[in-house]
Amino acid sequence: MSFTESQEHRDLRAAVAALGKRYGRDYVTEVVREGRYPDELWAEAGALGYLGVNLPEEYGGGGRGITELAVVLEELGAAGCPLLMMVVSPAICGSVIARFGTEAQKRKWLPGIAAGTYRMAFGITEPEAGSNSHRITTTARREGDGWVLNGRKVFISGVDIADATLIVGRTEDERTGKLKPCLFVVERDAPGFLKAAIPMELAAPEKQFELTFDQVRLPADALVGDEDAGLLQLFAGLNPERVMTAAFALGMARHALARAVDYARTRTVWREPIGAHQAVAHPLAESHVEIELARLMMLKAAHLYDAGDDMGAGEAANMAKFAAADAAVRAVDRAVHTLGGNGLASEYGLASLLTAVRVARIAPVSREMILNYVSHTTLGLPKSY
Ligand SMILES: Cc1cc2nc3c(=O)[nH]c(=O)nc-3n(C[C@H](O)[C@H](O)[C@H](O)COP(=O)(O)OP(=O)(O)OC[C@H]3O[C@@H](n4cnc5c(N)ncnc54)[C@H](O)[C@@H]3O)c2cc1C
Repeated sequence: MSFTESQEHRDLRAAVAALGKRYGRDYVTEVVREGRYPDELWAEAGALGYLGVNLPEEYGGGGRGITELAVVLEELGAAGCPLLMMVVSPAICGSVIARFGTEAQKRKWLPGIAAGTYRMAFGITEPEAGSNSHRITTTARREGDGWVLNGRKVFISGVDIADATLIVGRTEDERTGKLKPCLFVVERDAPGFLKAAIPMELAAPEKQFELTFDQVRLPADALVGDEDAGLLQLFAGLNPERVMTAAFALGMARHALARAVDYARTRTVWREPIGAHQAVAHPLAESHVEIELARLMMLKAAHLYDAGDDMGAGEAANMAKFAAADAAVRAVDRAVHTLGGNGLASEYGLASLLTAVRVARIAPVSREMILNYVSHTTLGLPKSY
């Protein structure tokens, strides 16, 4: 067990941090104001191999793991440029296709996902099912060689900038009549695939969409993996999702904390800089402790996942996401407070993180559902639902 990062990881961190610094918070603020996506940053990160660092080398990736992809996202976030689509396209969709796709599917989708030239969104949440994804009703029925998909999804991020969306649906088992979870790639222009942007109070470049599938015809190879192994395949994507959401949150937390510390070192309204007052310093110090603790759990979860321990990674990834989201929400709140009035001033670009960081508490699974998971799975307590 080593708590020291390898030289390779330190080099990756430094290189990504340098890229993020060239763009910075002001770039993201401007992009959001213009209502567009940070395509320049995404393209450059893709060309440098950062977006596909976790994907197999034979399909254009870097041959490393979720550990390295989390380093990339954390460092971009720490530079003020968190890219939520990294959680979705290379981490969830890339991992699922790399592990369960056919050879043809891997050749078709992974090189583009790795290079960032092909983006894939991910949709599981449904309006009626909410946190209870066992209740999803989006259903694919066989027709000829292919499938026909019907249903609805909600809050799906980045569908407007994605070339396709990986949809968690169900198939009908003709023998038993039971529904089984399955993953389908739906290309953006598929007839009957309707998207409506949801107005959100979020200052982030990724928009959320309500999706309707109205008799969407899919070819046979739209089904990723095995029709009968749905849940297992799904979990292969959900562990990376939780690790990466932790990285997304911790990047923003580090950015906010660094900005607050900078400010507290120099802002002087009495004799000493405000950072000399313990009422200002202690909350920042506490945030540093919380961020470091959450980071340790994130690295443990990423390490377990990369080592092939899906079960062990499940518990650690949930706990990492929980700890990182809480640490990040507190860090951003404290940072904004440290800047006083400037904390809410557009010029400082910090207040926009107040809503952005809360996403990590709600999605992909809320903090209450993680506490439920730990209560039932780890502690063996009975269920109320
Ligand atoms: C910005 C953003 C981006 C998103 N992007 C995506 C995406 O790309 N793809 C995707 O599939 N989804 C996405 N989501 C959806 C997200 O995963 C869901 O919002 C989340 O899973 C919660 O579901 P819900 O909103 O239906 O809340 P609900 O399930 O209605 O829950 C509402 C509240 O009740 C609590 N609650 C519910 N059941 C219990 C219980 N048994 N015990 C205790 N508390 C409970 C929850 O914790 C929550 O606080 C996104 C959401 C947001 C806000």
